[in-house]
Amino acid sequence: ERRRTMEQSRALPTEVDLSRPSAARVYDYFLGGAHNFEIDRQLAQQIAAMTPNLADTMRAGRAFLRRAVAELTRLGVDQYLDIGSGIPTVGNVHEVAQGINPKARIVYVDIDPVAVAHSRSILEDNPLTAVIQADVRDPAHILSEARETGLLDFTKPIGVLLAGIVHFVPDSDDPDRLMAALRDAVPPGSYLVISHSTYEDQPQEMLDAQKLSARTATEITLRSKAQVSAYFGDWELLEPGVVHMPLWRPDSPDDVDDQPERFGAFGGVARKPA
Ligand code: SAM
Repeated sequence: ERRRTMEQSRALPTEVDLSRPSAARVYDYFLGGAHNFEIDRQLAQQIAAMTPNLADTMRAGRAFLRRAVAELTRLGVDQYLDIGSGIPTVGNVHEVAQGINPKARIVYVDIDPVAVAHSRSILEDNPLTAVIQADVRDPAHILSEARETGLLDFTKPIGVLLAGIVHFVPDSDDPDRLMAALRDAVPPGSYLVISHSTYEDQPQEMLDAQKLSARTATEITLRSKAQVSAYFGDWELLEPGVVHMPLWRPDSPDDVDDQPERFGAFGGVARKPA
């Protein structure tokens, strides 16, 4: 099934916009998935021709998310709200968390119909997971739908995951407001995982490649380390703080790169104080 391309798949959701590339499907292409269309592959190839760094960024982003979820699960977190979860690929949050704690529950949220349809199909037999199609810019809606799944206990610590998504929220949609709403909704002891693209320390070709996201329905807003850090509010950052993604608790020397800034995104994890 993984080998079939989307064009050959009959399970195509009806509201898929084929006139524009989608961020989720371009990301899927870069990660080696089959859930993308010609229009997505064209954009991905154009990006890859401008800079090799952006494809590496997506892989490093995935690796950061895996390390963060493994770490939180080892710390005892057994429920996750993964917003902007994307098209399932290798090392999904439920695989990482349930690999450590088989009772871990995960609610996936994405705005993209292909991501949602494919997530639902692979999670059919996993009763400890649910998938919601929703927009991160409407946190109240996400929270009420997440409560409705019955999978998450909002009186116990929750791992809220926002990996590679907040940069899709433009300043005009007030990301500070929606981050505050998500922080307020979960109890002390909860964790927030964020990775976010940046313009800091980036070569011009990387900035130009990021600009191509304007062709999708979701243009990227690059932000500073200070702005990304502010999304954690007064929560306590785990060591080593907000850093270039490969530097966040690497598993092996292979995770680290001699130029960690070339991945173009910061990552961090913080805990809500009592
Ligand atoms: N979190 C995954 C990871 O780190 O591997 C996937 C990240 S992918 C770069 C970003 C995802 O955010 C895409 O699947 C896209 O559809 C989703 N997204 C973008 N804007 C969104 C929004 N306003 N609400 C919900 N999801 C959104």
